[in-house]
Amino acid sequence: MILKGFDELISFLEKPKSIVIIGHRNPDGDAMGSTLALKKYLDKKGHDATVVVPNEYPEFLHWLPGSDTTYRFDWQNTQSKKAIDKSDIIFLLDFNALHRVGSDMQNSLEKYPNDFAMIDHHQQPDDVKYMYSDVTICSTSQMVYHFIEMNSDLDLIDADIATCLYTGIMTDTGSFRFRSTTSNTHLIIADLIDKGAENDKIHNNVYDANSYDRLLLLGQALSNLQILPTHKTAFITLTSAEKKQFNFQKGDTEGIVNYALSLKGIIFAAIFIEDNEQGIIKISFRSKGSFSVNQFSRNHFSGGGHDNAAGGKSSLSMEKTITKFSGLLPQYKKELEVSYED
Ligand code: 5GP
Ligand code: MN
Repeated sequence: MILKGFDELISFLEKPKSIVIIGHRNPDGDAMGSTLALKKYLDKKGHDATVVVPNEYPEFLHWLPGSDTTYRFDWQNTQSKKAIDKSDIIFLLDFNALHRVGSDMQNSLEKYPNDFAMIDHHQQPDDVKYMYSDVTICSTSQMVYHFIEMNSDLDLIDADIATCLYTGIMTDTGSFRFRSTTSNTHLIIADLIDKGAENDKIHNNVYDANSYDRLLLLGQALSNLQILPTHKTAFITLTSAEKKQFNFQKGDTEGIVNYALSLKGIIFAAIFIEDNEQGIIKISFRSKGSFSVNQFSRNHFSGGGHDNAAGGKSSLSMEKTITKFSGLLPQYKKELEVSYED
């Protein structure tokens, strides 16, 4: 755990400030839950906080309290830049390095004259002035809860803040099932329910909001699934043409990789998704046990994340990307064999 400059940060925040809170590109439930919860908390403390994310987030997160106040840097550029220009400090939530916001927004942030405060649980964080980094915590949303706790302000958590934090913790723990989910996480979840988070509604809003097209896309993904039993590995591909066929919307591929990991005996799963807009294959890796997909992605696919969930990319064609991926597995045979005993 790294906790740097937080006494100073807390004194800095004693007077009302103009604050921008940023989450990573392609924001997920934890990025949106943590940023919106922190915004509402800071506003309650008398600050003027604005959430700016690099680009759009999935429809199944639009119901989150405060979502309507968020700026997307790519299509609400003027308002986003204005908020950044007038801010006294920027909070960086749920990401560890400035490049994770995408190059346009990164360029703006590199010129930012004031300080950054990072709250994040990803490995190998960049060094900024104020830091709260803990890779053992399941979600940034749980860390925002701890930040509020550090300020002795848990009683300021209202139903909206509780709902945002619950959503972030739920999505980043795969509904409280990953190893990072501790008894403390459950105690925090209990407190959030007591403070007004409606767990059944939150699960319903996030997980039971599929369109028919999304289910058909999932069907296509499952029929593309390939299993490599020698390496306890399974992977899925989705081409641009397949995405188009099923009217792909942002968020539609979220979670599909977990189907590959749900196969008995499989401990390493990947999904390769063609992204014509960016000209890359976007990859999600998942694993069980000690096999670190963070390391695997850092070593071979310009990405990173956590030990058991990481992202990456490839600028090769789909076919060449798969050949590269399959070709790498033999050198990890031993690690994959011993990663997880079921
Ligand atoms: P996903 O596969 O859902 O996109 O990402 C899985 C996890 O890895 C998330 O926590 C995400 O923030 C992180 N992640 C995804 N891509 C990258 C990357 O390029 N670098 C780093 N450091 N983390 C990533
Ligand atoms: Mn997270």
